[in-house]
Amino acid sequence: MPVCYIAFGSNVGDRLAYILKALELLKEYGKIEKVSTIYESKPWGVEEQAPFLNGVFEFTTELDPIRLLFVLKDLEKRVGRKPRQRWGPREIDLDILLYENHIVMLSFLRVPHLYLTDRDFFLFPLLEIAPNLIHPITKAPLSEKAQSLENRLKPFACLLPP
Ligand code: ADP
Ligand code: MG
Repeated sequence: MPVCYIAFGSNVGDRLAYILKALELLKEYGKIEKVSTIYESKPWGVEEQAPFLNGVFEFTTELDPIRLLFVLKDLEKRVGRKPRQRWGPREIDLDILLYENHIVMLSFLRVPHLYLTDRDFFLFPLLEIAPNLIHPITKAPLSEKAQSLENRLKPFACLLPP
């Protein structure tokens, strides 16, 4: 089954509850194989907002990347995400970081995620659960990128293995 890596984030209300709800609902669509530590992180892009909880999980699914994106968008709504500005506060955010070695360049979907190697809350949790990943486009080990990225993450919670 195809393996993908999905990032989650929340900075509104009961952040951990939104994340747990999303992980629970995702079981309808595949299997959660591993979950990283959940970290608290400073907002990125739009900085005047509450701190986020972020993490990454490994997911095996029969859904192709586009169907997976639509499922994630629908699931964000079911978990309780309300429409707001881009990069702004959100109850739950689910972003596809990697899908096998696929490269997707569509207006509404970029895989690998456009900011995969720029955001500490994507790269460090990802490497925690999959240390040997290679970037599908540059073919460089993702661990090399981590050396030049500041890690500002504070461990917040660890979930039991799924
Ligand atoms: P953010 O960029 O902060 O995650 P949104 O969650 O509102 O903001 O996402 C904006 C749009 O980004 C989505 O509607 C989706 O079409 C697009 N998008 C592009 N690539 C991806 C990806 N790899 N994973 C999730 N969404 C993506
Ligand atoms: Mg998103």
